[in-house]
Amino acid sequence: MLTITGLNKWFGEYHALRDVDLSVASGERIVVCGPSGSGKSTLIRCINRIEQFEQGSIVLDGVTEKGARQTESIRRQVGMVFQHFNLFPHMSVLDNCTLAPMRSLKQPRAQAESYARELLDRVRIADQADKLPGQLSGGQQQRVAIARALCMKPRLMLFDEPTSALDPEMVQEVLDTMVGLAEDGMTMICVTHEMGFARQVADRVVFMDRGQILEVAPPAAFFDHPEHERSREFLGKLL
Ligand code: ATP
Ligand code: MG
Repeated sequence: MLTITGLNKWFGEYHALRDVDLSVASGERIVVCGPSGSGKSTLIRCINRIEQFEQGSIVLDGVTEKGARQTESIRRQVGMVFQHFNLFPHMSVLDNCTLAPMRSLKQPRAQAESYARELLDRVRIADQADKLPGQLSGGQQQRVAIARALCMKPRLMLFDEPTSALDPEMVQEVLDTMVGLAEDGMTMICVTHEMGFARQVADRVVFMDRGQILEVAPPAAFFDHPEHERSREFLGKLL
């Protein structure tokens, strides 16, 4: 469903992504890991066109438009969850969830609200719908962010270290939500260092270092027999 070919990106002189190739099939769960600064966020931000890139292509099946319309089309079909939630602080949880479906999918309010409530129920915070994000715990806010992304009925979900800003006791509730999504068959690309999650749900683990993909392997192979010296070094530091 997603094909990345020969992707290169520079920030000024800095070569942030080097010849990245990656294909993701429908329903596949990919975990991306690697040291700080290796280009993980840049890669998924390129997929969502939050970042521009200079060389290569990123093709999402079914998207045929070009230019600005293509960006719009991709953003409608690709949900993104960030480390720092990025909820609108002055809007209720429910309004956070209905904004994009009403604006961009032109859904009537009643329809957007009823679907948002369904999804808030699915991430087990239906009772928080009328609160402001600041009145929720970090784990609850992140579950709102996931529900908000799902309200757009995305075909692909991108996660950029969704649990790394959370207090330890809230990490599991967010991971459980992500496992649920995976079990429902969502296509997912998750940047995370939660190796338990990777082992449990990933079809493939992608290891990045210095802007390159150095290794792609099923989790059991990657964790138990990493092939690349730098993968071994990285895993050694995680333990
Ligand atoms: P982390 O694990 O710390 O989140 P990462 O693997 O997500 O790291 P990126 O954020 O993708 O790394 O950054 C890759 C490299 O690109 C880093 O060296 C970073 O300093 C650089 N970089 C990222 N964004 C920009 C930017 N807007 N301008 C200039 N350089 C940037
Ligand atoms: Mg990052």
